[in-house]
Amino acid sequence: SVVTRFAPSPTGFLHIGGARTALFNWVFAQKMGGKMLLRIEDTDRERSTDAAVTAILDGMTWLGLTWDGEPISQFARADRHAEIAHELLAQGKAYKCYSTPEELTEMRERARAEGRPPRYDGRWRDRDPSEALAGLKPVIRIKAPQSGEIVVKDHVQGDVVFRAENLDDFIILRSDGTPTYMHAVVVDDHDMGVTHIIRGDDHLTNAARQIVIYQAMGWDVPEMAHIPLIHGSDGAKLSKRHGAIGIEAYRQMGYLPEALRNYLARLGWAHGDDEIFSTDQMVDWFSLEALNKGASRFDFVKLDNLNGHYIRSADPARLYDVMVETASETGRNSDYAGLVANKQTILSAIPELQPRAKTVLELIDLAQFIYAARPLPMDEKAALLLDADAAAHLSKLVDIFEALNDWTVEALDGAVRSYAESVELKLGKIAQPLRAALTGRTISPGIFEVMTLIGREESLGRIRDVVA
Ligand code: GLU
Repeated sequence: SVVTRFAPSPTGFLHIGGARTALFNWVFAQKMGGKMLLRIEDTDRERSTDAAVTAILDGMTWLGLTWDGEPISQFARADRHAEIAHELLAQGKAYKCYSTPEELTEMRERARAEGRPPRYDGRWRDRDPSEALAGLKPVIRIKAPQSGEIVVKDHVQGDVVFRAENLDDFIILRSDGTPTYMHAVVVDDHDMGVTHIIRGDDHLTNAARQIVIYQAMGWDVPEMAHIPLIHGSDGAKLSKRHGAIGIEAYRQMGYLPEALRNYLARLGWAHGDDEIFSTDQMVDWFSLEALNKGASRFDFVKLDNLNGHYIRSADPARLYDVMVETASETGRNSDYAGLVANKQTILSAIPELQPRAKTVLELIDLAQFIYAARPLPMDEKAALLLDADAAAHLSKLVDIFEALNDWTVEALDGAVRSYAESVELKLGKIAQPLRAALTGRTISPGIFEVMTLIGREESLGRIRDVVA
């Protein structure tokens, strides 16, 4: 059965490209009733950190991308990598190379002068180790094919042909006995029983070298799918400005995991013209062949629209929890306190806020009118609405509201309408300054809903604050 793997290097956060790779491996494993394993490629001891491992695991968990079994540390498997290198050596499929750094530099410089890619010339391939300089520790190099072609049969890129003369006898074990990355990946994928490798197409040339090792060991080469990278909305390489930030930053910006999953899937895979689909549909519809062959462009506008869709359809009780969590995580302490202290009011307000927000942060902003302390901070547009004319109308309204028996949407609506008629103004001319007074903004849920949510006392107090 199918085994996929996600193999991040823990040198930083889980970024958007890595998350998409993980998603495709996960979706494909789900679809095939198989497994997705997680391998932490931590052989670069200088750059790998525990914090990065935690960030990757947390990011995947938040996105709902579960892996099977325990994460596997590549570094912990170094002995096994060395064992296979020695096996290749014993079988005559690899050899010890005693070239000195000076020799290697010279080879590189000659290649550069002749305009060729740098390439080890194979000088130790058939040489006897007894000819080596005393005290030199050898590396182990694989005997790569010297003629013919190596074909990467790729589900996305088709057959990608590499000419053997362009691949040199590359190192599989360094002189200190540590494996090279190229070698470790093959041994791990083989031992983990990986049947399908789905990863970024920046690994395509590595694939050709990795096939050399598979063939030398007589191992089956896994199926491969190399997916094109994600570019910024302007077509340039993805940078921070474009969204090349950690997954936790997306959470803190107020994106829901299901929205990000949907968006990441659309970035690199298509099912007809469908833009919005559930994770179940994604699993149902997924195929490697439908992965895009061209680079995709990351677009915050599309992500925002998708996120708006998922916010509108989310359960209010869950949104409340996400709002509280987001406020806490982003250090919005007064929002956090306000949200927690006014749970019931906020829960009943959320259906009014949902259609107006594209992110959880916007939901929080929209909820602020509920717990904001008097006198309310006014945004610029709201302040402009509250001129002398408006203040005059609002102070008359205070008297009308005080006389109301019922504090309901219907009663308030009726009272404001008849007042507007009596002064021959459109309802908006009165309702907009009223909204500014009550919320400090020009965008909010329906103004009479706002008044019932915050109640009579608070409503009258806020209006008095701006007419005084
Ligand atoms: N560790 C590699 C990376 O983060 C992935 C290697 C692979 O998938 O084979 O780019």
